[in-house]
Amino acid sequence: MIWNSEWEYNNQDYLKAKYEKKVSGECPDLAVRKIYCKGCGRVFYTQIETKKYCLYSLCGNRGYQKELKWRRKYARQDRTCQTCGNTFTPKRSDAKFCCNACRQKACRGSVTNKASCQVDNLE
Ligand SMILES: [Zn+2]
Ligand SMILES: [Zn+2]
Repeated sequence: MIWNSEWEYNNQDYLKAKYEKKVSGECPDLAVRKIYCKGCGRVFYTQIETKKYCLYSLCGNRGYQKELKWRRKYARQDRTCQTCGNTFTPKRSDAKFCCNACRQKACRGSVTNKASCQVDNLE
């Protein structure tokens, strides 16, 4: 039997049963895995090691486009530090300050900001 994407896509019930046998300990050596498709987010059972999408022809492109869009939007977009006004390139999509010193300053400066201070950790 050749395992391929098309076959797996059409035999999810079979693979799911196999996966359940694996997690129940009945057949722990089975290679089947449970993944969430990067394109549509749906649960998919697979025996292909590099698998990321339920069906690449269906979701591969979509997931890739989504990732690209996300990256363009957040990863390399410079923003202005809320404390000192400097422009900086954030390491994280939700970073608000250029450095830890600025973050701490903002925390001390306002009580209302406290909640965001705790989550906005640059490390
Ligand atoms: Zn999908
Ligand atoms: Zn700053």
